[in-house]
Amino acid sequence: MRKVLNSGFVRLVDFMGGDFSVVQSARVSIGQESKGAKKDIKLIEYLLKNKHETPFEHSVFKFHIKCPIFVARQWFRHRIGSFNEISLRYVEYKDEFYIPEYFRKQSETNKQASIDKIVQESDYLIKELIEIYEKIKEFYEKLLKHSVAKEMARIVLPLSTYTQFYWSVNARSLMNFISLRADTNAQHEIRLYAREIAIIFREKMPITFKFFVKYSYFGKDEYIFKLEEEMEDWDLEKIYEEHLKNVRDSRGI
Ligand SMILES: Cc1cc2nc3c(=O)[nH]c(=O)nc-3n(C[C@H](O)[C@H](O)[C@H](O)COP(=O)(O)OP(=O)(O)OC[C@H]3O[C@@H](n4cnc5c(N)ncnc54)[C@H](O)[C@@H]3O)c2cc1C
Repeated sequence: MRKVLNSGFVRLVDFMGGDFSVVQSARVSIGQESKGAKKDIKLIEYLLKNKHETPFEHSVFKFHIKCPIFVARQWFRHRIGSFNEISLRYVEYKDEFYIPEYFRKQSETNKQASIDKIVQESDYLIKELIEIYEKIKEFYEKLLKHSVAKEMARIVLPLSTYTQFYWSVNARSLMNFISLRADTNAQHEIRLYAREIAIIFREKMPITFKFFVKYSYFGKDEYIFKLEEEMEDWDLEKIYEEHLKNVRDSRGI
């Protein structure tokens, strides 16, 4: 589990596929699978360089995410994927709310964005925010004590309320998500989540990740480029051969 914000996380629950699956799907058209690490790696590079992205749809990640509702709203706009979310009609909310480390200033050039500058009196405002959260929590609990239905009591909860969901997404759509959300234009909070998703993506599909960043990533987050730079001394052929061996062992061939 990878922690994000004061109470959120990203957790990989399940994964199907990998770098070999990309090669296998791409080569079905010529009735072949692996042609050895060197040629397979070249093929993955070719596919990403030439935007031939359907072979990446066969690798699927299932994540368990905990994030504030305002992050989830942005997340759910990514239609190519499947979501199931906790219901506050059903479950009483007992968690904390999202508390930022500090309040960022409004950007003057982008009406939708913040800049990484702390507003004056941020500490004092955060203290006040926490007091308001306590009042909200108190009122929410009071409504429940008065037998108000959970589906109604929740109307007092703020956008900083944490929600949880499962997200299943294929590698192609995941790359689109990383490009859009691990980006300087994306809101800081979802960007932190997208970075964690990118780390897991690199772990599971290192060859794809490398060439994704090189040819296909259209975001501008330095963090993503750094993840790729760290791979400079990775022995990709060895990593791929190990992966191929694991696939073959699991198939018993
Ligand atoms: C910085 C930022 C600011 C944003 N601001 C706003 C905003 O102010 N208001 C707002 O409403 N949204 C906003 N969004 C959301 C944005 O418009 C997209 O809905 C979101 O980023 C999902 O992207 P997507 O459509 O590529 O992903 P997905 O929905 O996962 O789709 C993946 C790809 O599939 C294809 N696709 C999916 N559905 C269709 C379709 N119906 N027709 C054709 N092709 C399809 C497209 O190629 C698409 O890129 C913002 C997003 C970002 C990153």
